[in-house]
Amino acid sequence: FGHPWIFIRGVPAMKFLPPEGPLEVAFAGRSNVGKSSLINGLVGQKGLARTSNTPGRTQELNYFVPDGYSGEGDDLPPMALVDMPGYGYAQAPKEQVDAWTKLVFDYLRGRATLKRVYVLIDSRHGLKKNDDEVLSLLDKAAVSYQIVLTKTDKIKVPAVPKLVDETLEKIRKRPAAYPEVLATSSEKSEGLEALRGEILKTIGR
Ligand code: GDP
Repeated sequence: FGHPWIFIRGVPAMKFLPPEGPLEVAFAGRSNVGKSSLINGLVGQKGLARTSNTPGRTQELNYFVPDGYSGEGDDLPPMALVDMPGYGYAQAPKEQVDAWTKLVFDYLRGRATLKRVYVLIDSRHGLKKNDDEVLSLLDKAAVSYQIVLTKTDKIKVPAVPKLVDETLEKIRKRPAAYPEVLATSSEKSEGLEALRGEILKTIGR
């Protein structure tokens, strides 16, 4: 992660996906969960993933790759980060939810180079109904995923391990869930190094 990343493409439909190349990890979460902040924190670049996107506006998979990445034989890690469109806006019209589900499910089912999805959950809210629906989608697509708690600085310190355990218990029977929950705070830069380590392990580095 110690190199610049660039945005290469926003993908509104499957036909706009870049050709399969580097391994990918993707990030999903309800709108406002702190996804942009987490991606920016991971790469150490404040403006990479735009923070505070207007809810519901961007229904695109946003692709980020190491700057200068040129394929095989490169020193840079051969991977792409994919920022998935947020979900769970109360006022989202049904067509928008359907479009989201179609894009995401097509992507999950059709992308051989996708190694894992990190599903972000706000520490203050825990798993909500629409998070559960997304986990079911991931289970159905048989794509490995890991839960990442965000904004842990917003809850009391002793509440964090408790929330980790409760969340683990809730996903215990889910077939595609990775049985470890990460706790992060982009604000305090906590848990980011652990997440970087998980990502590198996932893509075999
Ligand atoms: P996104 O919609 O999921 O991309 O969320 P953003 O990254 O734009 O963050 C939504 C809001 O939560 C913003 O006001 C951020 O400043 C705030 N936020 C994000 N991460 C953290 C965090 O770790 N701690 C705290 N306290 N606030 C955060």
